[in-house]
Amino acid sequence: GQTTADNLISLAQAADIRFVRLQFTDLFGTVKTVELPVTGLAQACAEGVLFDGSSIHGFARVEESDMYLCPDTSTWVLLPWLDDASRPLARMICDIKLPDGSAFAGDPRAILKRAVADAQVCGLDALTIATELEFFLFPLGNDGQPALAVVDHAGYFGNDQQQAAAHCRLDMADALAKLGIPLFGTHHETAPCQHEIDIAPLPIVQAADALVTAKIAMRTVAQEHGLYVSWMPKPFAGFAGSGLHLRFQAKRADMDDFQDVLRDGNVGCGRRFIAGLLDHAAALTAIANPLVNSYKRLRPGSEAPVYAFWSTRHPMPFVRAAMDANGAVSIELRSPDPSCNPYLAFAAALAAGTDGVRRRLNAPPALFESATAMTEEERFLRSIPRLPVHLDDALTFLEEDETIRACLGEHALTHYVGAKAAEWEAYSRTIHRWEHEQYLLG
Ligand code: GLU
Ligand code: MG
Ligand code: MG
Repeated sequence: GQTTADNLISLAQAADIRFVRLQFTDLFGTVKTVELPVTGLAQACAEGVLFDGSSIHGFARVEESDMYLCPDTSTWVLLPWLDDASRPLARMICDIKLPDGSAFAGDPRAILKRAVADAQVCGLDALTIATELEFFLFPLGNDGQPALAVVDHAGYFGNDQQQAAAHCRLDMADALAKLGIPLFGTHHETAPCQHEIDIAPLPIVQAADALVTAKIAMRTVAQEHGLYVSWMPKPFAGFAGSGLHLRFQAKRADMDDFQDVLRDGNVGCGRRFIAGLLDHAAALTAIANPLVNSYKRLRPGSEAPVYAFWSTRHPMPFVRAAMDANGAVSIELRSPDPSCNPYLAFAAALAAGTDGVRRRLNAPPALFESATAMTEEERFLRSIPRLPVHLDDALTFLEEDETIRACLGEHALTHYVGAKAAEWEAYSRTIHRWEHEQYLLG
């Protein structure tokens, strides 16, 4: 409101902030920003900032292009990688509204807010998400381009990594702390050049905001170290890919807070939530694994999930349930990868889980043996479906899933599926090097 805007203006004046950056994302998670002089802040907060929505990928047709960026004043933060300069910059995340004041149906943040409200109606009103963000750090060449080079062999929790990457990871953690993003920690991951940053639980919209902000910060910090952060899900066929595991917790004293998952006896929200995730696994994949390359990760041979089942111990389940040190149960969705739009992926996952609660579904028994080692018939008999095998497969499931469709809304769905189908078509038209190697001389 106006009072908060006034507070921010005093804050800005005290810190000699002359510019504010407004931030939002398009349908595919690409971050868009626009800077305003602080003198325009009061009006921006009161009325929003007019922009042309038709220029944003996946947003709108030309005839409905007038949109307003409405800053969420609670997201005000100083961008730490610029605070030593003579021009400190504050940042706010925006909601996107139409001229009549209603939320724009193609705004991913609005889609997530709607999913959160739906979950609340079903009693899931204190959910948090903790995120495990995996990524690769590649050297930046003199031409400014990242080199797909294996520059370390440190492995999981490895300590003998390339010093540049080690420093970079700590600087990333520092930047995130300055941005007010709570961390569990950081470590080297299994693959060469692969790392992980774990963000502590936050309410769901804040968790998505934090993840988007963290990704910008991490890319900026990496650049200062001559490194490039890649969110590519599977850069090397022979090494692990990068996941974005989402750990849901339900923190509410008067609720069963997912405890039923790890207990025998009555089925509660936890098992129903898992059942919903499993029921919508295929459609969810189209959102949480949005690239052609995402599906090269969801294959046997690494720890990424391949089949839709849940477990407490198995190394590669789609959903893993576990208890943390405080006795809270978390339901971890392990399929998403870091190339997804966090707002949409969180929304789709939440809608899936909520649907399980709403329909009072029950999860099948947890699986403890290897689904990969089973025969196809065994998996069929035990109802353990394969996740979609490629992007086009996933899109087909998305189009058939009423729950996930409703979560996105027809506007976003149409633009999303259209763009992703075109991406699949471009890939399918391409004659890849592998084909020449295999077939040219045949
Ligand atoms: N890198 C694995 C993935 O693709 C996950 C490894 C882990 O469980 O941390 O999801
Ligand atoms: Mg990991
Ligand atoms: Mg994990």
